[in-house]
Amino acid sequence: LLQMFQPLSFLGVMYRQIKESITDVERMFQLLQRPREIEDLPDARPLAVRAGEVRFEHVGFAYNPDRPILHDVSFVIPAGRTVAAVGSSGAGKSTLARLLFRFYDVGAGSIRIDGQDLRHVTQDSLRAAIGVVPQDTVLFNDSIYYNIAYGRPDATREEIIEAARAAHILRFIESLPQGWDTVVGERGLKLSGGEKQRVAIARTLLKNPAILVLDEATSALDTQTEKAIQAELLEIARSRTSLIIAHRLSTVVEADEILVMEGGRIVERGCHPELLAKNGVYAHMWALQQQAEEEPA
Ligand code: ATP
Repeated sequence: LLQMFQPLSFLGVMYRQIKESITDVERMFQLLQRPREIEDLPDARPLAVRAGEVRFEHVGFAYNPDRPILHDVSFVIPAGRTVAAVGSSGAGKSTLARLLFRFYDVGAGSIRIDGQDLRHVTQDSLRAAIGVVPQDTVLFNDSIYYNIAYGRPDATREEIIEAARAAHILRFIESLPQGWDTVVGERGLKLSGGEKQRVAIARTLLKNPAILVLDEATSALDTQTEKAIQAELLEIARSRTSLIIAHRLSTVVEADEILVMEGGRIVERGCHPELLAKNGVYAHMWALQQQAEEEPA
């Protein structure tokens, strides 16, 4: 009888494992807001990343035809530079990142990387060139090793350890009783917001993309962790073309250009000192934020 049931219980385990991984993938797509399928053109070519210049030209976009979201958005991120988008909730900042990753096609205008229209390149090659540090990192129900290695599945163990060291999470991992084999995620060890972001940073360092999108977390981390993580993110951004979706202005002070968005339009642009001198929307946001920081908690 036992012999009969063993294969059945094996099937049960397999079923659970498959179901869990399906749930992971589903969750990931949900978080990334993956929409209906975007198809590669029959003659799509792999993206050839040279310097890594990103160019939005007169981009218009709507999730639903009756509600336009972006209007005539144009900006360039020169290779190796950093552009930050700021503005109130719903202004369209994260939409810029989704369009760059081509989760959706633009409704008007174009997006180009090193001159190549995103609609003419293969999605795999596009997504291989872009690293995203999202607001909320999805952890798989698997070892922390797997979770970091996911950034580049063919990385060596040494490279993975190096990425964890650079993301300041190595000591934490080594302090766990089961070290790198510790299972994390919903059904494993729950990591704090800061630890999760560090896993995302390690993944991205491992991937080493030419283009980086940082979607700054809105959820509050404790100030010290947040400052440390911000500094680490800016360090990764320094050496590559970066788009920062910022919720706190302190992150954008050093950006080469800041786009101030309102209702899907760029209403002001410039570097931090230029925008302060304009004494407009940005200067007002800055003053409010300074005031809030000075108020005792
Ligand atoms: P936040 O600072 O709150 O993250 P945001 O500036 O990044 O805001 P977006 O996420 O780009 O704003 O959203 C811009 C607008 O598009 C919002 O009004 C939002 O309701 C709408 N929107 C976002 N995602 C979708 C979607 N999948 N379907 C329909 N509308 C959407």
